[in-house]
Amino acid sequence: MYICDEKRMADKINTFSQFGDAGHGGITRYSLSPEAHQARDEFVRRLKAIGAVVETDDMANVYATIPGTDPTQKRIVMASHVDSVKNGGNYDGILGVMSAMEVLETIQAEKIPHRHPITAMIWTNEEGSLYPPAMMSSGVVTGKFDKEAVLSSKSILDPSKTFGEALEKSPYKGAAENRLSAEKYCAMFETHIEQGPILEAEGKDIGVVTCVLGMVNYRIRTYGQADHAGTTPMQYRRDALYAAAQVLLYLHEELDKLDPELVYTTGEIKCHPCVHTVIPDEVDFSIDARHENPDVIRQVVEIIKSIPAEVAKCKTGFELAWKRDTVYFDKKLVGYVKDSVDELGISNRFINSGAGHDAQFVSYMMPTTMIFVQSKDGHSHCEEEFSSVAQCTAGASVMLNAVLKLDADS
Ligand SMILES: [Zn+2]
Repeated sequence: MYICDEKRMADKINTFSQFGDAGHGGITRYSLSPEAHQARDEFVRRLKAIGAVVETDDMANVYATIPGTDPTQKRIVMASHVDSVKNGGNYDGILGVMSAMEVLETIQAEKIPHRHPITAMIWTNEEGSLYPPAMMSSGVVTGKFDKEAVLSSKSILDPSKTFGEALEKSPYKGAAENRLSAEKYCAMFETHIEQGPILEAEGKDIGVVTCVLGMVNYRIRTYGQADHAGTTPMQYRRDALYAAAQVLLYLHEELDKLDPELVYTTGEIKCHPCVHTVIPDEVDFSIDARHENPDVIRQVVEIIKSIPAEVAKCKTGFELAWKRDTVYFDKKLVGYVKDSVDELGISNRFINSGAGHDAQFVSYMMPTTMIFVQSKDGHSHCEEEFSSVAQCTAGASVMLNAVLKLDADS
């Protein structure tokens, strides 16, 4: 078994935390921003120094590859992202990139023999926080998104600017022939922070990820009548917001009867006309529900369909906005990760991912899997994100040994 280096990992965490440092413990590092380019420059500088060959593709994804002893073998790739949400932390995404770097650095420093070329990779614009959607480049490369459509994605800060213009200006924009493909690559690993509280609560350092949860996202609507807030007696009102509150309570009561592992959220609500002197005439809110088992998701949909057509004198309606089926990771790769973490003697458990990741799209293209590192207090997408150097290094060591198992077996 091989072990990655805690000192080298700590140095990377400290260094990358400076790119986009917001001044109070976290970073804002939008994709293709000067800060994100600093992070890419550092990645390239360090990996060229250990003999990696760097390529970029037409979505500005970056690939740094060290050769194996057998040039006829396909590459094994380890990838994640360096972009963050606004006021994000120092671990989401970048930990997977630093872990991939750490694996290559350990292989080169210790002259670990391997047959396949091995690649560390940066995905462009995973968060989609400046230019939506999330997982943009993995979506394009795996054929899930139309490239022309994402090029016209407008900046949320300045709608006169597009992702395509930012890409055109990026020194990392390269050739489409360098894209990740099943012809050139045989498997992808992604190490990521858990972004939830389960590993910490159970005292485990590492999560062996088996799947990305299936989900549905519905829009629920209630329709009332706009009237004056001062002159309309309560019994004459058709208040769409009051009706929406009743529907939301109904959904919570019914959904709570389903499997305890079901998670569901109303995170968005639009109230019209949203004026304090006017009774709302239309409310539109989201309900996002996630579970591994498609039967549970089907039950969720049945409950949504069972919302009475009229609630508190208001008509109701619903519409499917988005869905995805549960994405299972490759069993063989999951097995290599599980064997590696057990052989290293690191505490672990199987876990699923409630969040989407680039690995989810890539799994349609080639065998793919993920490794989770414990997140303190389950925090992510905020400045409080934290995983210890020991845990981060443990995640890299698990990925290193899992990559070497695949290298030896294929
Ligand atoms: Zn991420």
